[in-house]
Amino acid sequence: MYTDNLFSELRPALERDEALAEANRCLYCYDAPCTRICPTHIDVPAFIKKIASGNLRGSARTIFDSNVLGASCARVCPTEVLCEGACVMNDHHARPIQIGQLQRHATDWALDKGMLPFQRAEVMRPALGTVGIIGAGPAGLACAAELLRCGVEPVVYEASGAPGGLNATGVAEYKMTRLTALVEVDQLVRAGITVKTGTRVGQDVSIAELEKRHAAIFVGVGLGHVGKVGVPGDALAIDAIDYIEQLKVDRPGAEQQTRGKRVAVIGGGNTSIDVVTQAARLGAEAVWLLYRRAEAEMPAYRHEVELARRDGCRFLFSTQTRGIEQADGALRLSISSADPKVGTTLDVDLVVLATGQKPHLGFFADIRDLVVHFTKVQIDPTTMRTANPKYWAGGDCTSGGKEVVNAVAEGKLAARSIVAALEAGNV
Ligand code: SF4
Repeated sequence: MYTDNLFSELRPALERDEALAEANRCLYCYDAPCTRICPTHIDVPAFIKKIASGNLRGSARTIFDSNVLGASCARVCPTEVLCEGACVMNDHHARPIQIGQLQRHATDWALDKGMLPFQRAEVMRPALGTVGIIGAGPAGLACAAELLRCGVEPVVYEASGAPGGLNATGVAEYKMTRLTALVEVDQLVRAGITVKTGTRVGQDVSIAELEKRHAAIFVGVGLGHVGKVGVPGDALAIDAIDYIEQLKVDRPGAEQQTRGKRVAVIGGGNTSIDVVTQAARLGAEAVWLLYRRAEAEMPAYRHEVELARRDGCRFLFSTQTRGIEQADGALRLSISSADPKVGTTLDVDLVVLATGQKPHLGFFADIRDLVVHFTKVQIDPTTMRTANPKYWAGGDCTSGGKEVVNAVAEGKLAARSIVAALEAGNV
């Protein structure tokens, strides 16, 4: 297992010459499939062409015009299954263009130069009223930026002490450092987004008060904590989101918790892979991932599963946890597995639950006609509007947990729908 520092971002940034060479490989396709598959429809050939001609400002501008969180997305997007997976180079048995790395090259330049990712409209439209946005994660920030571009003033309410949402706290450090997320959010705030931090809706400000203050409201609260697995002793396990966040805010504490320990992670999605990879890199003695179905049914991306394998994680498929108990200063998992090679108990020091986040239900009950089905706020996907015509919603609270780029696309779509509704007096 690793014990040294492996939390610099997984893919090192391209040097200038490497970026130029890679940009010059692009065919600048007409009706480019990479652009079509991107949820925010970044004009990929255009931004790559600007890198090739040395115009990094113009390249970053092209990216931000479609996606104000382009620096995050350059790092955390599953490019293998999105733009790079769609690149025509694959059809020619050639290596796809490294679109994510080129996007990072341009947006890092922009972050470094303090370039603002968007500009508010020259003439604001106060007659349309203001929009309340609940949650300062990717969906809420993207919605706010788009509203400002359209001349409508948003006010973002954020329960925690800082904006950024899961981008700042829940993205595995080896994919994107907390510093990158914070710098990116800082540029958005400098561009004009007002965020009221430490303001929990339903507690510090009521839904009735928000409805009085704002012409329309966007809900972008993401998801809450990971649900328990419903077996005896599951309170002895910790939440995957808390585990990932600890490394970001308290590296020594995270090392102390994991180094030399045996770690079991329960789950099968991308978050479970983030946790096992993080545990391995923090110097765990052994890391197991327990998934209740077969490998082929795992929702995690294949390339991430392979990364975890390379980091030494052992996978126990078709394995269910029946209970967790304290035993001799450690934790004993009772398990049952379809694999005869897997025993009936597993002794570990730490159990992390990555079995899916639950919705924030707190204030939802105060919103008339809001429909939540399982973990998802129900919306019209063509507008992101809810059954209550004053409310729109987007991001993980509507999707149940997707990528940052999906949250950005949904926040943008909602903002355009809100502006159209306000213009039509239809709220
Ligand atoms: Fe360039 Fe590939 Fe996109 Fe074509 S599909 S424009 S080659 S990145």
